[in-house]
Amino acid sequence: MSEVVIVGGGLSGLVAARRLAEDGADVTLFERRDELGGRVRSREVDGFTLDRGFQVLFTAYPAVREELDLDALDLRGFAPGATIARPDHRSVLADPLRAPFAAIQSALNPDVTVLDKVRILQLRRQLGNADPETLLDGPAESIREYLDRKGFSERFVENFAAPFYGGITLDRSLSTDAGVFRYTFSMLSRGETAVPARGMGAIPAQLATRARKAGVTIETERAVSAVDGEEGAATVETGGETVDADAVVVATDPKRASELTGVDAIPTDARSCVTQYFSMREHRSLDTGHRLLLNAVDSCPNTVAPLSTVAPEYAPDGHALLSATTLGVPDRSDEELATAVKDALVTWYPEHRFDDLELVATDRIEFAQFDQPPGFRDDLPAVDAPEGSVYLAGDYTQWSSIQGALESGRVAAEAVRDDV
Ligand SMILES: Cc1cc2nc3c(=O)[nH]c(=O)nc-3n(C[C@H](O)[C@H](O)[C@H](O)COP(=O)(O)OP(=O)(O)OC[C@H]3O[C@@H](n4cnc5c(N)ncnc54)[C@H](O)[C@@H]3O)c2cc1C
Repeated sequence: MSEVVIVGGGLSGLVAARRLAEDGADVTLFERRDELGGRVRSREVDGFTLDRGFQVLFTAYPAVREELDLDALDLRGFAPGATIARPDHRSVLADPLRAPFAAIQSALNPDVTVLDKVRILQLRRQLGNADPETLLDGPAESIREYLDRKGFSERFVENFAAPFYGGITLDRSLSTDAGVFRYTFSMLSRGETAVPARGMGAIPAQLATRARKAGVTIETERAVSAVDGEEGAATVETGGETVDADAVVVATDPKRASELTGVDAIPTDARSCVTQYFSMREHRSLDTGHRLLLNAVDSCPNTVAPLSTVAPEYAPDGHALLSATTLGVPDRSDEELATAVKDALVTWYPEHRFDDLELVATDRIEFAQFDQPPGFRDDLPAVDAPEGSVYLAGDYTQWSSIQGALESGRVAAEAVRDDV
């Protein structure tokens, strides 16, 4: 029986491990933290469920459908579209085909032009039915250039695209490769945007259960300090011990993967964000319902998510939970950022008081995604780029997303199976 070591227990490592074990390999996974999930984790604080940063699951991602049991995740869905907010002003922009009741509000929305609404529908028809495999391909241009080329107005870009797609790519200037826009736009029109009732951490928990069932041995608090590959064999160093294997899959975050394998093509420039969680008394209802709030003015905060309205399980009885995400890692203290969030809410909702808004926690996430400039996919490393029997898995071999990570685990497992 072939012995395979997986380094890293994020989504990509868990998928690679399960698939290889199902193919008959003897698989051991080493994870350096005391818990699995990597960038997708959740924790409990005072009865609130806090994901590590604001993250959502697009149920239409092909790899999500392939790798996850969505029913078992007990998903809670966001409403399509968003509420655009600025001082003394809020407006709804919904997908008229998926949220017909909000269609009239959307039709009257002054924050985008009538032509923009027509163009959204055209794009929906064009991208909504496209083969997902083709969506990331295209000329090397930024999201901003793509939207300009498609004729969207400055108003649409400033008020909607910058905060909405800036929230997805953690880059409000929309300098990310347009393929990421096409892919996510298409997924948004095909499926739900949701969180599991028990938090995003339920995703790696499900993958880990399936991996263990397939026979994978998972060891947490086991950091791998070195990986060495030769023809048909490989070794890893962990805790002073050398472990021999027929193949090793490095499924860490890109920075660590680059250090462990020395592969220069691994992208290590980061996109960062700060997510703050706030509790409020439950009787307060913001009129955004299950829709994300977008800051049309600046990125502090870029978005506010009505988490416990979408997933009541995220907050204890009598409380509501909001998250607010600011892009980058600003030089301001947690308290200063929390004050900026409160000030923004007060100006968006002058009819409400926010005296009871309390900061529950702040997550500063230095490495949330790797930077994806136009044409980035041309330079990504191949799955077998390292020396010898060492393989790469991780979002950085595809694109920075849950889809990219899950898919990379499958691709790495297939490469190992074919070679070993
Ligand atoms: C705040 C935030 C918001 C996001 N929002 C979304 C979203 O809404 N939708 C979406 O699709 N994607 C989103 N993403 C991106 C998505 O979460 C990632 O692309 C994906 O989780 C990456 O998975 P991975 O397995 O490639 O890597 P990681 O999750 O980074 O996993 C790598 C694992 O390797 C472990 N490791 C590292 N070094 C070692 C070592 N030496 N030895 C052993 N183990 C090691 C780490 O501890 C970690 O568990 C978001 C990410 C963040 C952080």
